[in-house]
Amino acid sequence: MVVHMNNDEQLRVLHVASEVLPLCKTGGLADVVAALPAALVAAGHDARIVIPGYRTALAAAAAMDVDWHHHPVTIEVGGVDHQVGIGVVQLGAVTCYLLACDELFDRDGIYGPTPDSDYEDNARRFAVFAKAALALPRCVGWVPQVIHAHDWQAGFVPVIRERGFGRDLPATRTVFTIHNIAYQGQFAADHMRLFGLDGWLYNPMHLEHHGGINALKAGVVFADQVTTVSRRYAEEIQTADYGWGLEEVLRHHAYKLRGITNGIDVGVWDPATDPHLPAHFTATRMAGKKRCRQALAEEMGLVPTDDSVCMVGIVSRLVSQKGLNLVIEAVSPYILDGRMQLVVLGAGDPACEYALRTLQGRHHGWVCFWHGYNEGLAHRIEAGCDLFLMPSLYEPCGLNQMYSLRYGTLPLVRHTGGLADTVIDVTDRQRGNGFTFGPFDVGHFSSVLDRALGLYRHYPREWQAARRRAMAADLSWTRVAEEYIGLYRSMVYA
Ligand code: ADP
Repeated sequence: MVVHMNNDEQLRVLHVASEVLPLCKTGGLADVVAALPAALVAAGHDARIVIPGYRTALAAAAAMDVDWHHHPVTIEVGGVDHQVGIGVVQLGAVTCYLLACDELFDRDGIYGPTPDSDYEDNARRFAVFAKAALALPRCVGWVPQVIHAHDWQAGFVPVIRERGFGRDLPATRTVFTIHNIAYQGQFAADHMRLFGLDGWLYNPMHLEHHGGINALKAGVVFADQVTTVSRRYAEEIQTADYGWGLEEVLRHHAYKLRGITNGIDVGVWDPATDPHLPAHFTATRMAGKKRCRQALAEEMGLVPTDDSVCMVGIVSRLVSQKGLNLVIEAVSPYILDGRMQLVVLGAGDPACEYALRTLQGRHHGWVCFWHGYNEGLAHRIEAGCDLFLMPSLYEPCGLNQMYSLRYGTLPLVRHTGGLADTVIDVTDRQRGNGFTFGPFDVGHFSSVLDRALGLYRHYPREWQAARRRAMAADLSWTRVAEEYIGLYRSMVYA
């Protein structure tokens, strides 16, 4: 349903980002850039998106219905002119612009020839993108009140706007969102010229960072407001443990930094209707969850067990951030005692994959590791498990703990980032919906796992109460969009 409102109340917001579902995705950014504008439009606002016209994105858009503006716009970067075509595609109710420039974006990869490498001309690619995004309003005759730039790829947008390129957007305010501070876009100092920025900005208070220029820092310093994807992460990134070298910059700009915790697509992740599941359930009719558990055990080749054994799940990229090493080191005694079975879905670090295969071999029929990416199985694990593990070292927001809450699968998480915002330990008897631990070590992880398995086996009523609270949480983008609308309004009507 779209809410209709008059022009005075309606906000015009342009999201500038590198990824959006379903056109191109390498990470959670693409989900947010799809979901937030959709929720804003549903609330009656005019939110649009602009992304680079990568080869993959143009191919995906071609399968929909793309309109091309007749006149490409000329964007000068470092003395070279680039012709940028403007494609328009509808993503549901949201208008999305694609900025096409063959010599920069018509390539196999998005950021580099392989997922772990960068193109040498990334500074030029994203300088052209930033300038073209700022030229877009003039080209299409639509002036946003707020430009909302996401992550390092759009980090130079606020400074380029402020330093002259946004002359025709004098009243436009800027928001910059950090989705993961580990990725910053650091370039050599001589790229200042490419971005058309004055040399005097090359100092530690503005753009200089460790002898180069840093796109994320540029976004933080020059945006009117800065957000990140959870409240806790907004605090954490101001500390040396989580700031990846930018903690001082963030502390300095803390007055305009806030965390807004992401939502999830509650239509796609709904245990009452999920087409990936063999049976459905709701908080008041849980029989379907039991059937999901049995079907999952069969699908994964686990030995049949009764309800006294806790079914534990993990769906994750297998990278050190996710804390899988704690799980691998800690779980064997609990499996040997017959207290839990474990299903893991994921791919990534070969050493972690090897360790999971070894664990599976050691506990045949009690541990199953499914290697690879499998959307449907991710849904069935969320639905069929009793407990979900996410002992991340850091987690800007995290999605899986929210899917788990929605599917009545209690999350066991480290108290960090978005995990801390969304999961409350059951020691809080009024609000508890999962299990949390603090220090990142095997001892603390084992003890919370022991506590969770104990509650599961010996206190089923407490478990069910926590599960009801988990399933009642409002995780929708509608709620999140309200927070962003409040932020936009505070800037536009200040
Ligand atoms: P991150 O973005 O750091 O990987 P999140 O929890 O925020 O972590 O989001 C991970 C998303 O990717 C979730 O939607 C999760 O279900 C999905 N995912 C990760 N690995 C797999 C996999 N092997 N198969 C299916 N889905 C996966």
